[in-house]
Amino acid sequence: MTGTRAGELRIEGLRAEVAGREILHGIDLHVRSGEVHAVMGPNGSGKSTLSHVLMGKPGYTVTGGSVTLDGVELLSLPTWQRAQAGLFLAMQYPVEVPGVSVDDLLTEALAAAGRDVTVVHTEVAAEAERIGLATRLLDRPVNVDLSGGEKKRNETLQLAVLKPRFAVLDELDSGLDVDALRACARRVEAATTESDLGVLAITHYHRLLDELRPDVVHILVKGRIVATGGPELAAELERTGYAAWTDEEAEAQPEAPKARAIDPSMHPGAGGPGGMFGDPFADPLA
Ligand code: ADP
Ligand code: MG
Repeated sequence: MTGTRAGELRIEGLRAEVAGREILHGIDLHVRSGEVHAVMGPNGSGKSTLSHVLMGKPGYTVTGGSVTLDGVELLSLPTWQRAQAGLFLAMQYPVEVPGVSVDDLLTEALAAAGRDVTVVHTEVAAEAERIGLATRLLDRPVNVDLSGGEKKRNETLQLAVLKPRFAVLDELDSGLDVDALRACARRVEAATTESDLGVLAITHYHRLLDELRPDVVHILVKGRIVATGGPELAAELERTGYAAWTDEEAEAQPEAPKARAIDPSMHPGAGGPGGMFGDPFADPLA
């Protein structure tokens, strides 16, 4: 499964807080190149927080642990350097980038990483075809006026052209119809063999995992991994829901604070381009 570029994304004892409250209470995940790890959990369990902390979103404070990609510590790096190190995040709510086409965006990103940009236009067209994104949408500013499904296909296209080492997919399946879901999941699955992509697929539902088949499934409840297993764990979850794990967790932690609404003031409005990774986290709904 792993080839010459075999590597590892290692998350060790990761603790993080937002708005003065600890949300991640020590997360350990080891994803190797070519592997798909699913992180499943109920709403408010910290899934998006994990993806934001991995990519370095402002407003999240890491209070412990480490995240390394092939031994390189990412937590001390700004977002764009994490991207250059080979980490990619597909956000739950993709950001609109007014004034910048996907060609421009990918050209900048690849140029910044010292990679060949002459093939961008051809690759974008080929990937659009493969993923089923209408080519007329490619001239539009990134994600502007796209439907939910088109946005997720667009994110997947960026992943396919950028060829990161590891991808964190935060609910790639949210807001998607079944055709778009299948197209995106299949493209990511193919990348795991074609370019040895390692994947952390964060999802609430089982359906993503029908196409993007996980090697390992983790269940995240209230900021802790409470179970790890094979694909059968996702199937069990599909039958039983999260109750078995959330109850267990509740007994272990009677004082655990309840999930509450997100403070909208933590989220800056959708920003301009500001460079490739200038304001990648301006999602108003996360
Ligand atoms: P999930 O993605 O699993 O639904 P989140 O990571 O979005 O969960 O949220 C986990 C917890 O952290 C929730 O209680 C949520 O209210 C809180 N939280 C997340 N982001 C913020 C924020 N920017 N400000 C305040 N609370 C937040
Ligand atoms: Mg989320």
